[in-house]
Amino acid sequence: MIPFLDLKKINNQYREELIEACTRVIDSGWYIGGQELENFEQNFAEYCGTKFAIGVANGLDALILTLRAWKELGKLQDGDEIIVPANTYIASILAITANNLIPVLIEPDKNTFNISIDAIQSAITVKTKVILPVHLYGQLADMPKIMQIAKQHHLLVLEDSAQAHGAEVDGIKAGNWGDASGFSFYPGKNLGALGDAGAVTTNDAELANMLKALRNYGSHEKYKNLVPGVNSRLDEIQAAMLDIKLKYLDQEITHRRQIANLYLSKIRNSYIKLPLDKINASEYKQHVWHLFVIQTQYRDELQQYLFENGVQTLIHYPIPPHRQQAYKEWNNLSFPETESIHQQVLSLPMGPTISFEEAETVINLCNNFTK
Ligand SMILES: *Cc1c(COP(=O)(O)O)cnc(C)c1O
Repeated sequence: MIPFLDLKKINNQYREELIEACTRVIDSGWYIGGQELENFEQNFAEYCGTKFAIGVANGLDALILTLRAWKELGKLQDGDEIIVPANTYIASILAITANNLIPVLIEPDKNTFNISIDAIQSAITVKTKVILPVHLYGQLADMPKIMQIAKQHHLLVLEDSAQAHGAEVDGIKAGNWGDASGFSFYPGKNLGALGDAGAVTTNDAELANMLKALRNYGSHEKYKNLVPGVNSRLDEIQAAMLDIKLKYLDQEITHRRQIANLYLSKIRNSYIKLPLDKINASEYKQHVWHLFVIQTQYRDELQQYLFENGVQTLIHYPIPPHRQQAYKEWNNLSFPETESIHQQVLSLPMGPTISFEEAETVINLCNNFTK
């Protein structure tokens, strides 16, 4: 079976270094809020080009706590509207509703799967305070235009960069476009811990400071609580694992791009629509291919056929947030573009350890698929 993503193989590449770092942390006797976290935060901020990176427990908390921090800082209040793509992973939207803010769902651009600029413009009201673009599947949303709109309307921008570590446009990386950005280091993400972890990046010192308090019971100083915070910390072992894997991130992205280029140049089947090849267009040349997502009207048949021939695929995502039971109140809203994406997408095997031979097998199977 060609696996969709082989986490064991990925981490095995760095086995010696990871074990050495684990041992170092175990022997240090210091497990939360120490040197490992400080090193990783500094190195990750440097990688993204930002002044600050603040480690938290996971990607969802990175988004929740940023919005929460803006509320504490008086920049947002209950009932403010946040523009977010309807076809995102549900976490982007959970972060909004968890803060008593109102998600305004809008359609994506069907070619890039990312938030549509026209749709943003028509969704802005007097209550709009934030645009929350999601760099879906590893390709940056159209950040130059989004930042221009935000400036014009005095809106904050929170990037959801959970799938886009290292992606860039115009030499500026994911995490360094908006006022803040949430990252996930869930094991399957392009930069993955060996457990849960996340971070916020920002250039705003006041925000960074508030986040550091919020993640730690609202406290900078032991037993002095400034705001009602939570416990959402990135522990020393995970920080140490991430600091090692960060060194190899660019190399892993290069491999993903090589696999993506093979798929793009060799998959030819009239039933299969490939992701838009913006990889060679100057403005999008830095797609990091967290996922390689094709579209086909015969999605379920293609998935079954690939499975029977030894190829594991996944669907990102089968049910859009507005059709989830968790958001019953939106179940009869209609987002045709989003719904058609959810019915037609299929993610092919993609990752830093997939071999070119395996990719060729996937390509041949795709080319021989008939309904
Ligand atoms: C993974 C992901 C998240 C949430 O990250 P966790 O670390 O799993 O909480 C948020 N947004 C998007 C787009 C994601 O893919």
